[in-house]
Amino acid sequence: MKRFNYLFISMLLLCVFIFSANSAFAFEFNFYYQEIVEVYDPASTAPNEGLGDKICNWLSPDSKTEIKKSSYKEDGHDKIAYKVRTRKVTSLAELYKQMGVTQEDYDNNNISNGQRAIIDIFKSVKDSTKNQAIMERTQHADKKKCDVYLIDSSDFDNTASQYVKDSLSNDFWSQCSANRKEIQMGTINYCNDSSSDRAVSTFLHEYSHSLDKSVFHEIHPYGKDGTHYYNEVISKSAAFKEAWAEYNEMIESENRKNYYYSYSTPNQELIIEKGKGDYSTKVKASEATAEQLLRNECFMNRLLYRLHEVLGKDANGDDIVSKAFYETNGLTNDMSKLIKQLIKDNPESTIAIYEVIDEVTFNKMSDKDFKKFVGKSDKLEEYLNVREDNSKGSVGENSATRAKSDTSNNSSIKDTPKISSGSIKLPWLNIKDNLTTTASGSGKLPVLRKLSNEEKDTKGKGVVIEIESDDPFGE
Ligand SMILES: [Zn+2]
Repeated sequence: MKRFNYLFISMLLLCVFIFSANSAFAFEFNFYYQEIVEVYDPASTAPNEGLGDKICNWLSPDSKTEIKKSSYKEDGHDKIAYKVRTRKVTSLAELYKQMGVTQEDYDNNNISNGQRAIIDIFKSVKDSTKNQAIMERTQHADKKKCDVYLIDSSDFDNTASQYVKDSLSNDFWSQCSANRKEIQMGTINYCNDSSSDRAVSTFLHEYSHSLDKSVFHEIHPYGKDGTHYYNEVISKSAAFKEAWAEYNEMIESENRKNYYYSYSTPNQELIIEKGKGDYSTKVKASEATAEQLLRNECFMNRLLYRLHEVLGKDANGDDIVSKAFYETNGLTNDMSKLIKQLIKDNPESTIAIYEVIDEVTFNKMSDKDFKKFVGKSDKLEEYLNVREDNSKGSVGENSATRAKSDTSNNSSIKDTPKISSGSIKLPWLNIKDNLTTTASGSGKLPVLRKLSNEEKDTKGKGVVIEIESDDPFGE
């Protein structure tokens, strides 16, 4: 009997080992090509038969055609509906076939910019020569699969009425579902010539959201209207989550880094939502409090990127900031926990980390808040004393170097990229980044239709719809 038990336990352990070994390599991306075949404006013109609930990709089975109501509603206009055809695709050839295009069409530009964008997203994951950025991240996934919906509304992207375009943009905005198992990417958001690279980068952004286990710690993480802008002071947890996703784009793309950096300059005007949708309160970043800067996604992505510049990679070639993120990844993770982990992992760079924090928050953080943020230590006491002395000696100067320390890591701080608000020509802010609204929400959706596709495209931000009680992470 005993022998049997040993045998049984050995077999069980073997099974567990085989299962774990397999699951480590079992991450799977399932792609679904989803064609918007018909648009019914208003929804009441759709055939009664089959008119289903609001569009929600997270509930779609593998392969079917269905009629779904838009989630978008503007005052004075009824919702529209779509006939949506969904097909699972496992190869580029299958994707081309479902799209009704050929490699020649792709090569000769006989497809829309949006179609090129979703094909390139597919390639970025499936083509082994292009998928390094994604694949090296899958080892950190706590889910075994990710369903990706590539939504092709190209028959309507450029020719439909503005209301239909707005609905498409709202319903099919790039986003990751709350359960972090699904991502949707639609052609409507990538109509420009240069959209394809941004689409691939945004897919990485969404996939990075899917790796983030932290939850929002506040009731209205993106403010009362559920929207947020690059220059908005939002909640700390929302700013942290967005900064993490953006940081992943930044370390893979110089263009994306410069783009995001352009929103975290001293001259940047930050907006604060006081009352639902009221953004009349503004503050210049250089005059904002450290608390406000910690609640802005672009200042937080700058913080992560500057730490990346200072700390670099470890002996295994792994990005040190990302490594600390995965070490602290969990429901309650936040920027403070991540920074404390970075200090724990890299004690020799402690002072350099303090200096980056001061640099990004314009030396605004009080001693008390600093201690709370990075954890009390003798090194910190010493640093704060030097900071205090330097501050007394340089009244009126806004110098990141006033916190100079006696460590050898100071040189890395000098690599700070030049900050110049006028150096990068980009459309200005106040373009919606991300909207969440509950299905039962009666709030008016902020207006996107005033923007041209070009503006929206360059901005790369738009509306995300929150389905039921989900908290999908829009771009
Ligand atoms: Zn995001």
